Amino acid sequence: MFIITKEIYFCYGHRLMHHQGKCKNLHGHSVKASISIKSDSLNDQAMVCDFSDVKDCVGAFIDEVLDHNFLVHRDDPIIPALVAANERFLPLDEHPTAEVLSKMIFEYVKQSGFAVDQVVLWETASANACYRED
Ligand SMILES: [Zn+2]
Repeated sequence: MFIITKEIYFCYGHRLMHHQGKCKNLHGHSVKASISIKSDSLNDQAMVCDFSDVKDCVGAFIDEVLDHNFLVHRDDPIIPALVAANERFLPLDEHPTAEVLSKMIFEYVKQSGFAVDQVVLWETASANACYRED
């Protein structure tokens, strides 16, 4: 089994409703997503796939959906204020945790046709969440 990993950096704001600690406050993160693609064999260029193909796919999704966006649970009472202020935000069915974001990226990469092995989202230099299907 061969596995390649491409790292993509981006930023987002969020808050976690009902969190007992400081994550209940509005705040942001500058994060790294590590996207791993697997294959039992190599292509005719001796690659799993080109790193730039992964970057083009995931980078476009992250730029459009996540980067410099404000991620909130769809029941978050701050939403009317964000609408009134004409702020960009993304309402989610689940709380906007690193776990949920890693799964969201995983599913997009999988839908795009890559044999994705796992997505790890580094929310800080010392804390990450990983999503994989096994
Ligand atoms: Zn946070």
